Amino acid sequence: MNELIKVGEKTYYISGPFHVGVYDLGTVSCAGKKEVCLIDTGVDKVVAKVIDKLLIEAGFIVKMIINTHYHADHCGGNLYFKEKYDCHIYATKLNAALIENFQICPAIIWGATPIREILNNYFYAKPTEAEDISTINLPEGLEYTELPGHCIGMIAVRTSDDVWFLGDAVVSQYTVENHPLTYIYEVGEYLESLEKLKKIKASLYIPYHAEPEKKIKSLCDINIKSVLDNIQTIKKICETPRHIDEVISMFFNEKGLKLSMYKYAVEGGIIKTYITHLYNNGELTAENIDNYIKWETVR
Ligand SMILES: [Zn+2]
Repeated sequence: MNELIKVGEKTYYISGPFHVGVYDLGTVSCAGKKEVCLIDTGVDKVVAKVIDKLLIEAGFIVKMIINTHYHADHCGGNLYFKEKYDCHIYATKLNAALIENFQICPAIIWGATPIREILNNYFYAKPTEAEDISTINLPEGLEYTELPGHCIGMIAVRTSDDVWFLGDAVVSQYTVENHPLTYIYEVGEYLESLEKLKKIKASLYIPYHAEPEKKIKSLCDINIKSVLDNIQTIKKICETPRHIDEVISMFFNEKGLKLSMYKYAVEGGIIKTYITHLYNNGELTAENIDNYIKWETVR
């Protein structure tokens, strides 16, 4: 059930699987409607229409959008709102480029022309024009900080009600426990961002896919522990030299997970991200054995 929930004098969010932020800019359109900034826009046009219905019932129209990052579940609704309201869309410079060129997103996941299993609406949204958020003065009451690691240049957005919209900086405890390979692009930055988030004070923290929290430290620690557990699992697997597909297979068996082509692309890529982190930090070595590149934990 999607509802527009008020969490501050000017701050709202849409409940449901995607916690879209809504900030009342305090300005009024020619038609007498209150103008709002959306923080992310849902996964596609269907979700955007549900959000829009709630906004219309509240007397709001969309003046601008801030995307925390380029993943399609955060900006898949952009096109609907752009076409209807001709609103401006902002993200960090690289994320704006990716929002405008969406074919790059699944190519990042697969590392080549993507296999068809990942051409879904989580990785492939219709492109929209987007502008570099660092080049504008944000409306009074809005600010942002970078929390990279989940992807390059992801931001969290703060409103004047001391509410932080966190994008995908953290996932829920349920997600961590049931899907240990949550999406990470750069492990070191991800851990640093979680430590940074623990120090950010707020009246309310709203992760995009988890319930709002008045305190964020314990959820950050749960996310950090999951990453450190994954690192230990991979280092243990690589006590004997392993090819990447062996690491993926053994990791899945260890965690009781079942591989599919989709998971091979997405979660296999996440395991590669962990291997990059360990290799670049000198915790894994790489050796060519019979033309297989095999990774081995440094003792
Ligand atoms: Zn994401």
